[in-house]
Amino acid sequence: MRIAPLAAGEKLSLSSPDKLRLFFIGTGSAFSKVLNQTNVLIVKGNDHLLVDCGTKTPQALFTFGCPPGSIQNVFITHTHADHIGGIEEICLVGRYVNKKKPAIYIPEYFENILWDYSLAGGCAYNERSGGKFLGFGDFWDIRRPARVSRKPRETWEFNVGSIKLRIFRTKHIPDSAASWEDSFPSFGLVIDEKILFTGDTRFDADLIRDYGAQKKIKAIFHDCQLFFTGGVHASLDELSTLPREIKAKMFLMHYQDAWEKSADAAKKAGFAGFTRQGAYYVFP
Ligand SMILES: [Zn+2]
Ligand SMILES: [Zn+2]
Repeated sequence: MRIAPLAAGEKLSLSSPDKLRLFFIGTGSAFSKVLNQTNVLIVKGNDHLLVDCGTKTPQALFTFGCPPGSIQNVFITHTHADHIGGIEEICLVGRYVNKKKPAIYIPEYFENILWDYSLAGGCAYNERSGGKFLGFGDFWDIRRPARVSRKPRETWEFNVGSIKLRIFRTKHIPDSAASWEDSFPSFGLVIDEKILFTGDTRFDADLIRDYGAQKKIKAIFHDCQLFFTGGVHASLDELSTLPREIKAKMFLMHYQDAWEKSADAAKKAGFAGFTRQGAYYVFP
């Protein structure tokens, strides 16, 4: 794997000359101001998938030279605004500017949560269609991932062209939840059988054991909260207790703007590093 920052003047592309690229639009926490929030564009050949679209994402995409309206495939990990605050724009641009529905890959029960709790207020009431206000399917080409297992936790699979995705439930909110089953729905991903992207999660050693420890997993991108332990994210101190071989392939993401204060501690603990915003991670 090599890391290739976007060169000055280079535009973020929705196709890749390499086999698989992850482009980190942002690597910051929910309240980051210097960094963008954490979201990633997966690109392989002519296929792409945007994973999360936070409040800062449309502007960040534009800044990287990729108009938000050109995104055609989306996956959402959970309904915090740093992961969905920008998708109303994708919805409205799709319906009223491009007149084309982008595809969204989403389990049915999570579609209801995303629409009823978050998107309907800004999207449903712009027009009546056949006497009814609009619904989720008026904005999205809905694709259902295939449920493959409930063990070790709820898991689904889907393909976006040549990109293979496996998604699974994580333990994010509330902070008192005892397990993934007890948590409000949030998801992590295994990308092309070789990359674990945890999404937002509290420290969860079972998740690493079941989805990240295998030899075929070459890189782990993990939620990391710096400076304190507690709340709804995995802390640097908690992650530091993981085995050395796991930390050696673990890149930290979703961190605070002042991350450089923890750079030495993370290096000493043996992590692969802090994920770099505005860079491609290119996998052979
Ligand atoms: Zn977040
Ligand atoms: Zn979150």
